[in-house]
Amino acid sequence: MIERTLSIIKPDAVARGLIGEILRRLESGGLKIVAAKLARLSREQARAFYAVHKERPFFASLTEYMSSGPILVSVLEGEGVIMKNREIMGATDPAKAAPGTIRREWGKDVEKNAVHGSDGRETAASEIAFFFKPQEIHSDRKP
Ligand code: UDP
Ligand code: MG
Repeated sequence: MIERTLSIIKPDAVARGLIGEILRRLESGGLKIVAAKLARLSREQARAFYAVHKERPFFASLTEYMSSGPILVSVLEGEGVIMKNREIMGATDPAKAAPGTIRREWGKDVEKNAVHGSDGRETAASEIAFFFKPQEIHSDRKP
């Protein structure tokens, strides 16, 4: 099944100059980038994007962090890309992420874990629409 997923390189990873290395890791894993741009979330936009976590104790800190600087948002497309991206990212907590994953290599802690990736088809569709207009996605395929 050809899928799309939303990837985010989080603010501290952008600030540390890791965009190129992280995109390289995704492309090396066979993931195709069909849209990409820098963005900056306001605090309100970060709250809206992570609304599913609004009752969690980390919500205030997470939304402050995610609005603290520019992020690199991209749409990845391919067979099973949602789970493939999650595998290449590694577990949420970098300390528990498998060796060779993005989060193990570049994540600082459970919050500043370098990257975001959608966790399912429905969240992928809504997260992609949060950042991209259909005409900004450059694919041969009609999803
Ligand atoms: N997060 C955090 N503390 C936690 C769990 C999550 O700060 O105990 C942050 C972290 O940045 C994570 C994001 O909240 O990436 C979303 O959490 P989720 O459980 O959806 O993890 P993910 O899907 O990003 O692996
Ligand atoms: Mg998640």
